[in-house]
Amino acid sequence: MISKKNLSKKDIVLTIENLFSQERIISADIKKIKRLAMSKNIKLGSLRKKFCEKCYSLFNSENSKTRIRGNFKIVRCENCNYISRWQMQRFKK
Ligand SMILES: [Zn+2]
Repeated sequence: MISKKNLSKKDIVLTIENLFSQERIISADIKKIKRLAMSKNIKLGSLRKKFCEKCYSLFNSENSKTRIRGNFKIVRCENCNYISRWQMQRFKK
């Protein structure tokens, strides 16, 4: 359970990390996490790329397709067909 009151920034970060370490995380929880993080200005960083921005389902090999095009990593959610694009870091020559 996530209670919104009396949580420090550190507590929230720990809560988020705990939830994402679970194998069965439901989209409602991800929605809560995102709201919680946003309310405290916490950046989800790489965790943000682990779920669909539209339906908040956690990506795995069954519900998502990943492609690399140019400098972008393109992830398509099989649940809602939402396409997330992530710019990849350029490699220095
Ligand atoms: Zn989706």
